[in-house]
Amino acid sequence: MKHVAFDVIVVGAGIAGTSVAAELSKHASVVLIERESHPAMHATGRSAATFIPSYRANNPALRLLTRASGNFLKSPPADFSEQALLKARGMLTLLNGVSPQASQRELEQMNATLEHSIVELPVAAVKERIPVLSDEWSSAGWWESDVRDIDVHALQQGYMRALAKNGGRFLSSQDARPHWKKGAWHMPIDGDIFSAPIIVNAAGAWADEFAASANVKPLGLQPKRRTVILVAPPADHDVENWPLVAAYDGSFYFKPEAGMLLVSPVDEHESPPCDAQPDELDMAYASEFAMQALNGLAIKRIAHSWAGLRTFAHDSTPIVGFDPAVPGFFWCAGQGGHGIQIAPATAKLAAALIRGNENSTKLKDLGFSAEWVSPTRFL
Ligand SMILES: Cc1cc2nc3c(=O)[nH]c(=O)nc-3n(C[C@H](O)[C@H](O)[C@H](O)COP(=O)(O)OP(=O)(O)OC[C@H]3O[C@@H](n4cnc5c(N)ncnc54)[C@H](O)[C@@H]3O)c2cc1C
Repeated sequence: MKHVAFDVIVVGAGIAGTSVAAELSKHASVVLIERESHPAMHATGRSAATFIPSYRANNPALRLLTRASGNFLKSPPADFSEQALLKARGMLTLLNGVSPQASQRELEQMNATLEHSIVELPVAAVKERIPVLSDEWSSAGWWESDVRDIDVHALQQGYMRALAKNGGRFLSSQDARPHWKKGAWHMPIDGDIFSAPIIVNAAGAWADEFAASANVKPLGLQPKRRTVILVAPPADHDVENWPLVAAYDGSFYFKPEAGMLLVSPVDEHESPPCDAQPDELDMAYASEFAMQALNGLAIKRIAHSWAGLRTFAHDSTPIVGFDPAVPGFFWCAGQGGHGIQIAPATAKLAAALIRGNENSTKLKDLGFSAEWVSPTRFL
């Protein structure tokens, strides 16, 4: 049995852990540990892969992490990825049941915080974008042009390559169970003992469970299951250039996905951390809403379905920072439904905090405060 020392051990190879490990590896010796046989097998590999600047933009932490990440995603470092990380999509929000006054008020509030304006479209313009929209769902809409598809695989691979290039290590099929002794964290890995003075908890839905296993007080994170189905689009319609379409009342969203339609009933069922599976009832809701919304859509078969866990702190704001009660235990968890679109800026922030150099990120210039995401808010 060898003792192998690192500066930092990162636990969890979803987008959170992988991006933090890659950022840290520029300046430190890092190992990334994953329990599954491959990275990104849980929430990261199951997302809707969308970048939405207005998504919960009334939360300043999420808004600014999204904005700073957008800059990275739009123009990543030259050697990061051969493919573009973002693709134009646009988003249409159907305003059924929303009065013109309420829409105007909300739009003004949102636009005051965003870099690009969202505009209101009359029904005719909404129908131009989605010609088979049913009468029941035909309404005025909001159009957000800056919404993009994210190539999650390319993003994850870009970070994995950067980690390897900087001399960082990645080990899969390893269940991290650390203990603190004599100024460092230690854990048995592959017959050896890995040690580091700092450990990063990027265990996604398992972040509280992982903390407890290290004798660190859990922070009350709640995983919530969300379901997605893939179905054939209405016959004779090429949906490739359709936008992401979401109901204002939160009953569904759909978007094109490789010639098919990806539909979610926007479910949020509390769940223990697990390999989430789609529920029959949620799949039925997704089918039903899609068929109500689109003329000519007859779903005879669900081509594919999946579910994943979105994990939230009680204030629905991510947790990024050192645990105030336990030395060297760093949280990077609770990304909820934003984990992909905020990963680049969150990783830079985490790396800067770990290096004691918070002001080195561009977030500060945007007016971001690390206190908003600090675990000290749970004291
Ligand atoms: C249906 C759906 C749609 C979504 N759509 C979007 C979207 O459009 N845009 C967006 O930005 N976000 C979206 N999200 C949210 C996004 O997917 C998550 O916020 C993000 O993937 C969380 O990443 P993570 O790395 O924290 O978690 P995960 O990807 O779950 O990674 C955590 C990893 O930790 C590992 N792990 C846990 N415990 C241990 C241990 N003890 N030892 C070793 N490894 C361990 C797990 O195996 C796992 O691989 C969506 C999520 C879902 C489910």
